[in-house]
Amino acid sequence: MNPFASTSTLPFELPPFALIAEEHYRPAFLDGMAEQLAEIAAICASTDAPTFDNTMVPLERSGQLLTRVAEVFFNRSSSDSDDFTNALAEELAPLLAAHADAIRLDPALFRRIAALHERRGLLDLESEARYLVERYFTEFTLAGAGLADDDKARLRDYNKRLSTVTTRFEKNLLADTNDLALVLDDASELDGLTPGQTSAAAEAATERGLDGRYVITLVLPTSHPYLAQLTNRGVRERLLAASRARGIRGGQFDNRDLVLEIARLRAERARLLGFDSHAAGVTADQTAKTPQAVADMLGRLAPAAARNARAEQADLQAQIDAEGGGFELAAWDWAFYTEKVRRARYNVDTAAMRPYFEFERVLQDGVFYAANLLYGVTFTERTDLVAWHPGARVFEVAEADGSPVGLYIIDVYTRDSKRGGAWMNALGSQSTLLGTPRIVCNNLNVPRPAAGEPTLLSFDEVVTLFHEFGHALHGLFARVTFPKFAGTNVYRDFVEFPSQVNEMWMLWPEVLANYARHHATGDPMPQDLVDRIQASSTFNEGFSTSEYLAAALLDQAWHRIGADDVVTDVAAFEASALAAAGLDNPVVPTRYASTYFAHTFAGGYDAGYYSYIWSEVLDADTGEWFAENGGLTRANGDRFRSRLLGVGGSTEPLAAYRDFRGRDASMQPLLDRRGLN
Ligand SMILES: [Zn+2]
Repeated sequence: MNPFASTSTLPFELPPFALIAEEHYRPAFLDGMAEQLAEIAAICASTDAPTFDNTMVPLERSGQLLTRVAEVFFNRSSSDSDDFTNALAEELAPLLAAHADAIRLDPALFRRIAALHERRGLLDLESEARYLVERYFTEFTLAGAGLADDDKARLRDYNKRLSTVTTRFEKNLLADTNDLALVLDDASELDGLTPGQTSAAAEAATERGLDGRYVITLVLPTSHPYLAQLTNRGVRERLLAASRARGIRGGQFDNRDLVLEIARLRAERARLLGFDSHAAGVTADQTAKTPQAVADMLGRLAPAAARNARAEQADLQAQIDAEGGGFELAAWDWAFYTEKVRRARYNVDTAAMRPYFEFERVLQDGVFYAANLLYGVTFTERTDLVAWHPGARVFEVAEADGSPVGLYIIDVYTRDSKRGGAWMNALGSQSTLLGTPRIVCNNLNVPRPAAGEPTLLSFDEVVTLFHEFGHALHGLFARVTFPKFAGTNVYRDFVEFPSQVNEMWMLWPEVLANYARHHATGDPMPQDLVDRIQASSTFNEGFSTSEYLAAALLDQAWHRIGADDVVTDVAAFEASALAAAGLDNPVVPTRYASTYFAHTFAGGYDAGYYSYIWSEVLDADTGEWFAENGGLTRANGDRFRSRLLGVGGSTEPLAAYRDFRGRDASMQPLLDRRGLN
């Protein structure tokens, strides 16, 4: 009996991980696709005129077996991959792409949706149902449903090929990231790291059969957090070089040809769909609407960010000179000297904060605590429930009155089988139509401490945890009728907004006081340290805004090329795109270079990496709203929950924002926050 064949009988329909074996996935995918196509065929076989109930409702009900297996499999292939998941993911990618096309390009189905869309004003539908018709019509149209048959065939080929090459890109990236981990022979080379970090590096070496040596594993972005700590300049240089070498050093994991092919295929596909570029096709169905709107915004921010970064660079050089360093600041020195200047100017030592950020306290007394104050929800660990890996912990979430909300699963530690970065995904999405419970997951990449040591987070890791938990709340608080709209199923350039808002509570006095306690002594973080952190909040924003904007512009540049443009050299293309934006300062490298830019080339954020700063406008404006209205209160939380989190994708997001805020968002709070005035 295949465990995917029926709905799980575990609490909250948690997938029965203990029963799922490798041989269950492939048949469940194949049966799931076949089942959904049969369901679609049944809709189209009807001789009755299309109605909402005989077309949209069964469409939304279709594919439940496929959803069950896909949620579990893609969670595993991201979080705990191995040769089996890699091979199956590569095999499935073109099949799933073809499956999606079989639905979106089905002429009979599109005729029914188009007929409903045409008469939508006369159908007496609730607003969410009417919006469902509009969304399906728009998405099918943009996906090519209206094309002639021979163009549809070409479109299918593009989609299939793209799914294969983007999957290969991601596989190469993980392999090269593991392969390029920095191996050090001598403990003295790790000078500056904490004893816990050093023993973790020793254990990582042992795991790789390199007893007696030290391994520093790479993180997804260009900059590694240890660059702020390592005192040996040569080691810093090697660590940054290893990070930047990913996918661009020749050999079997080189991603350059894939980058060129992906960009070209996306441009050609966009032309087929009637757009000038992939970016035009993508933004047409986002709140941004056009690549020009994105370019205008990024272009407005870039000069100020680059100027601020140059001022910061001069400060760092002055610090080097004052020490008699006798060298010019290089990219691998930036974080290290930034820490020195931060200490000198604000007396803030970010390494000294770690003892106050013990993981369990941050999670329970910080993240959960803030959610409890804002929304009344509580979290109880369910050690009786198992997830996909022994490191993944399951919590039951309940409303203030005790009624169930869903499950929250968190998998904290990094491992070679986990892809880089941090993310939220779902193993079950709310909808009243299907009655499915909510199961949301957060994956982080916190290095595992040496045995017996506490997990002490960096400042940035705490930000990340609050951020990812904001996505989790978006999923947990979904309150929609149709599965299509649940939780985070919103426009990509809107989806980061709730998660960014949740970051606000990390330093909120009431929350910080509750969780930031010294792991050994229990003493609260000293108030003057808190004040100094706040005072230094725009410090180094020139750098972080510039490295982000560089990546966002690069993503746009790759996806604004036309189908006839010929690009043959990845590095040269990058260099000219960054120079054109004035973001080519060699000491401020882009957050991701093309060959390890998974957001854009493995997909998900292609032509959409701008989304983070785009939604930060709403985030900063929301921060101001909370501050103006009494801050962290149940009343404020409930308003945010009911008007923005709960509605998911079931309404036009900027209209939902107006409903919450009473007006459109202003850009000024973002400019203030990032020091870009
Ligand atoms: Zn996010």
